[in-house]
Amino acid sequence: MLEELKREVCDVNIALRDKGLAIMTWGNASAIDHERQLVVIKPSGVPYDEMQENDMVVVDLGGNIVEGKWKPSSDTITHLLLYREFGGIGGVVHTHAEWSSSWAQAGRDIPVYGTTHADYFYGEVPCTRPLSEAETAENYELNTGRVIVERFEGTDPLQVPGVLVHAHAPFTWGRNVRQALEGALVLEEIAKMAFRTEVLGNRYSVGRHLLDIHYLRKHGRGAYYGQKKK
Ligand SMILES: [Zn+2]
Repeated sequence: MLEELKREVCDVNIALRDKGLAIMTWGNASAIDHERQLVVIKPSGVPYDEMQENDMVVVDLGGNIVEGKWKPSSDTITHLLLYREFGGIGGVVHTHAEWSSSWAQAGRDIPVYGTTHADYFYGEVPCTRPLSEAETAENYELNTGRVIVERFEGTDPLQVPGVLVHAHAPFTWGRNVRQALEGALVLEEIAKMAFRTEVLGNRYSVGRHLLDIHYLRKHGRGAYYGQKKK
């Protein structure tokens, strides 16, 4: 079942390694079939070298395995909460990529220091609050999802397609799993640039006018960036 989606999710998981976003078995990607309300996700602990599309696990939104020979990723519960809460998303990627994770470990939002950021994220990349001891001891993965959702109150997750989980690492998402991968790559790049920007001495975000023109010409209603879609 969902063979095409499995192929796509498998390809994106392998791309996490190939593009330098994940080492060993770190990182995971998933995608949802909205119609059937089923999610395809990476299996837990299977090395990228051996991973094939039929290793992907199909789960329902309650986390029950519908098809697959492996246990799903340990972060499955977090992915599922994001699908349940962020209606328009079709894919989720989680990595421990070094630059983005450094900001997460510092517990800092990434300010909009330039137009590369503004092209993709309509505002700062937010960092969640720390999880409490109780939230960590019980239902850790679910609570990880909850602090993300809490942080997005009043923010459109499709305009800010990623988050830093405090002391942990980034999650990104998009209308599909390829967009979620693109988000992870872009986030890593802007996290690196933002770090260097601060080292060089700048602590000021770009003005609203620059954020607006860069984000909206790509994603706004009157977007004119790129080639006309037929
Ligand atoms: Zn993680």
